This record gives sequence, structure tokens and C-alpha cells, in this order.
Amino acid sequence: MSCPDQTTIDDWVCGDLSPEQDANEETHFLSCGRCAKRFDRLTGGEEIIADIRELERERDEYASALSRISETGQTLSETLFGAI
Ligand SMILES: [Zn+2]
Repeated sequence: MSCPDQTTIDDWVCGDLSPEQDANEETHFLSCGRCAKRFDRLTGGEEIIADIRELERERDEYASALSRISETGQTLSETLFGAI
């Protein structure tokens, strides 16, 4: 995946991208060391990256909570219906 140009980064920082584009760029920024460095040069770049990481962490926690709920549901249905 190639790096977005400065205009795209500026739009992303300002929240001017479509939700889909926004998610794409976010995924790229998180996995690209080159873009992380470009962010460092922007005012508040580190703060933005920290915010993204925080959001990512929350999303991971949410995802693992969801999977725990579905596992519990499965165990419950096995217990209830497996005994019949
Ligand atoms: Zn990049």
C-alpha cells in the first residue's frame, strides 16, 4: 500500500475524509513507520497517534469482550441443549 499524499493527510487530520477513506488511512498510518514520522513533524502529531492507539486499544477490548460473550453463549447452549 502506498503512502497517502500530504493533502490526504491534512484532510484526515481535519476530519474531511469519508468514513471509509478515513478508516483506510487510519489503518495505513498505524502500520506505516514512514507516515508515523511524517506525523511527528506535524503539530500535535504524537498526540494524534496516541489518540489513535487509544481508540485501537478500546476497539480491541470491545472485540475481545464480544468474543467472550459469544463463547459464553455457546457454552450455555451446549449445556442446555447438549444434555437433551
Ligand atoms: Zn505510509
